Amino acid sequence: MQRKQFLRFMGATLGGVVLTACGGGDEEPTSTLDAPAASTAALSAEDLSAEEIAGLMYMREEEKLAHDVYVALFNVWGANVFSQIALSEAEHTEAVRRLIEAHGLPDPAATNPAGVFENDDLQALYDKLVGMGQTSLIDALKVGCLIEEKDIQDINEKKAEVLDEPDIVQVYDNLLCGSRNHLRAFNATLLDQGVTYEATVLSQAEWDAIASSAQETCGG
Ligand code: MN
Ligand code: MN
Repeated sequence: MQRKQFLRFMGATLGGVVLTACGGGDEEPTSTLDAPAASTAALSAEDLSAEEIAGLMYMREEEKLAHDVYVALFNVWGANVFSQIALSEAEHTEAVRRLIEAHGLPDPAATNPAGVFENDDLQALYDKLVGMGQTSLIDALKVGCLIEEKDIQDINEKKAEVLDEPDIVQVYDNLLCGSRNHLRAFNATLLDQGVTYEATVLSQAEWDAIASSAQETCGG
């Protein structure tokens, strides 16, 4: 039975149907579920809300987008800031992939090569940003700034939807910390080129507060 029910559950969850526990009450501790080890993942996934699942799916691909754009722009301009931050983005998308795996969910980026995304908005964004970054090194660095400010806004939004999942919050906090460092690095590299970046996603005050503060040591 377990296999079939698990697959049905996964299909329902991914179709956006929120499954609630029998009775719907969460005051009572759940009675002992003597589930076999194989269905632990399904039970884990059932604990996540539709918003939490959607957040993981999105952030897995958004961090991949950052990585793939920076690799593409490094290949055009050869600036180390892109290759160094791409390494960090590879860790970020992998951290989200581990959460997806731990919660028994399918990985949207399991088989997609660089520059290919399941999410249509992220696909369009990737294509647009790589195009924008071809014109000049300054434009490429501005693409980096834009990705980081969008990333910070999006992670904050997804984090706000997490109800009671410390493992997810911890990863999101770490991604935010990394993004602030990346923002500082791109901002400083642009300043070296004589360009002051104007924020387009965050407020200028938020941008300045991050850009003018020191690099942080982010958790693992
Ligand atoms: Mn990142
Ligand atoms: Mn980043």
